[in-house]
Amino acid sequence: MAKKQSDLKTKPLLTAVVANQAGEIFELEGYAAVGMADSLLSPLKAANTRKIPYGSELMYLPDRRPVLYNPATGIYETLKENPYAPGEAIFPVAAFNSPGYVITHISAYRETPSAGYLPLFSYGAVGWHQGNFRTAVILVDPEPRQDLRQMKREDVVAGVEKMRRQLPVNRLREHLEKCALQYGCPAGKNFFLGRYEAPLPTAGQCNARCLGCLSLQKNTGISHSQDRIAFTPTPQEIVQVALTHITRVKKSIVSFGQGCEGDPLLAAEVIEPAIRLVRSQTKDGTINMNTNGSRPEVLAQLLEAGLDSVRISLNTVREKCYDAYFRPRGYRFADVLRSIETTLARKKFVAINYLNSPGFTDTPQESDALAGFLHKYPIHMIQWRNLNFDPIRYWKKMNAVTDHGEPIGMENLLNGIQTRFPKLKFGYFNPPKENF
Ligand code: SF4
Repeated sequence: MAKKQSDLKTKPLLTAVVANQAGEIFELEGYAAVGMADSLLSPLKAANTRKIPYGSELMYLPDRRPVLYNPATGIYETLKENPYAPGEAIFPVAAFNSPGYVITHISAYRETPSAGYLPLFSYGAVGWHQGNFRTAVILVDPEPRQDLRQMKREDVVAGVEKMRRQLPVNRLREHLEKCALQYGCPAGKNFFLGRYEAPLPTAGQCNARCLGCLSLQKNTGISHSQDRIAFTPTPQEIVQVALTHITRVKKSIVSFGQGCEGDPLLAAEVIEPAIRLVRSQTKDGTINMNTNGSRPEVLAQLLEAGLDSVRISLNTVREKCYDAYFRPRGYRFADVLRSIETTLARKKFVAINYLNSPGFTDTPQESDALAGFLHKYPIHMIQWRNLNFDPIRYWKKMNAVTDHGEPIGMENLLNGIQTRFPKLKFGYFNPPKENF
């Protein structure tokens, strides 16, 4: 008991944060906040959390009950009702953290029988300590590329008006206006603000059916967060937008493969001539593609045309788990690996968009598989991204296809990989070629 008291003094726990029936969020004295990683629960401490990053959002989770830690008893409790208003429901609260931060724990909760799928966000654990919310995250990219403080609406609107004058007849410019002003897409805003990376959404089709696809959900009961682009821009429309960005931004990046489209490898008939046209006019700027990597031969053609870097999305490097999430149609995981090989063979930059879920990504099986993959495929960068999908349902799907051991912790995973592969870059955003 004495040891526990001193431990609590040196490593203070975060106070639990919950929501009432009206959606009001408040701290609950007498309980500590809890993070979960599949079946593993742990109280959140000040020492392994950070002050909530600017721009993060708190959400309460309907049809779910919070799991909290009672330091007085040393027991985890699932709260069934609001202790301040007996008979009333109480809900768990989670943080959707800002870009650049990878979550280490999910907010701990249990579903009620009426629970449906959670919307497509990540649900980081959060607590309260000394006047601040704190979240269980690791900073992987300090660049302020998507810092909302640098994206004032009036500046974006001014940028939109300027681009209307500069590119009066261009459907891709019009589409990006919707992204920036209606969806609040940071990448879309950056095009109009003339900074960093501009998006070049192009593809209406995809040959995967990711469980957490943001642009298309059919008969799942999950709403997608943005509509897929409804037309295919011409090479000229793509070139106009790309060159506008490249010529006015230092260390610029233009990227195919966005959240509001399918997979760009299925639109190579317009992308290849667009890349050739851009490269016939300038060597500046980084032309990047975010893709599922399903068509290595097509990707090879795009690399020959002048594509500089490729970011391939993966939730795992094990085929069974990949198939369970991506549900590929007409390609195999081996094709994704061949795309990585093809890009490396041409000495182009390869990153993986590694979709993390604590409780799965940090299991020994996943950690070992990732290390084996990195030995075989010496890619340049891992972009550690939080998987935006219902965590409990994701763990169930992954555990249904293969067995998993107890998680080693996201910090241990990242530290272990960095130690074994010291040249491997960690980050969140696509780098310009000047930083390859
Ligand atoms: S690869 Fe991208 S566009 Fe295709 S299903 Fe997956 S998330 Fe959606």
